Amino acid sequence: MKLKQEDPRHPFIKEMMQMARTWETFVPTNKKYRRKKILDHAIRRCDAFFAKSDDDTKPIADLGKKFIMGLKYADDMIGDRNYVMKILEQFSELDEEEKDRWVKETSKENLIKIEQVWDNFCEAVDQRLRHVEAFIDLTPIQSTVDYLVDTETMFSCVFGDLYTSVEITSDYSCSICQKNPRTCNHVNGKFYDGVECVTQVVNPQLVAVAFVTNPVDRRLRLWPWNDRPDLQ
Ligand SMILES: [Zn+2]
Repeated sequence: MKLKQEDPRHPFIKEMMQMARTWETFVPTNKKYRRKKILDHAIRRCDAFFAKSDDDTKPIADLGKKFIMGLKYADDMIGDRNYVMKILEQFSELDEEEKDRWVKETSKENLIKIEQVWDNFCEAVDQRLRHVEAFIDLTPIQSTVDYLVDTETMFSCVFGDLYTSVEITSDYSCSICQKNPRTCNHVNGKFYDGVECVTQVVNPQLVAVAFVTNPVDRRLRLWPWNDRPDLQ
């Protein structure tokens, strides 16, 4: 039997989804140790499946691996998010004058942590989870995705929505054949002999910087402390 890369009915994918469901039951209670145990087990199962896979089943192994790595990434930020949520709640309750003072006086570690959690959120939701969603139904972990998206609402409420937008021109090349991806026959995200086709950026050049509310890259958020000299 030939397997298709996007075939979610494969027993291995089913098994990964079952593990994701079990993992998710420990999210609301923040039982980090239990979640870690399940994820470690899932990663070991992925590695074992990958080691035994042939040309037909390798795409399934890759798919399972991506799914579990997306989950691991979401897991990493759940604990951080709860910690930062406490800081942000305090901040949002301050009046304008107190906020100014808070920005000037709060520890560098706190501010860096807030920025880190935002970066992790963007990577977990925009890049990892949304990317695997193209191949795997995320229903088993929908409540976790929703939980992470709530993080976005929380940041927007506290800091508003203003971002830097950087305009860059560049050329692109296909990672498989190195030619222009618009004219070659490889499909972005598909595997060729076990290697994923991705569009590579070649020769990037900065053209302009602007302030926008709907950025391409949400990691470029403007922070109230962006002009604090010790953070530059
Ligand atoms: Zn190509």
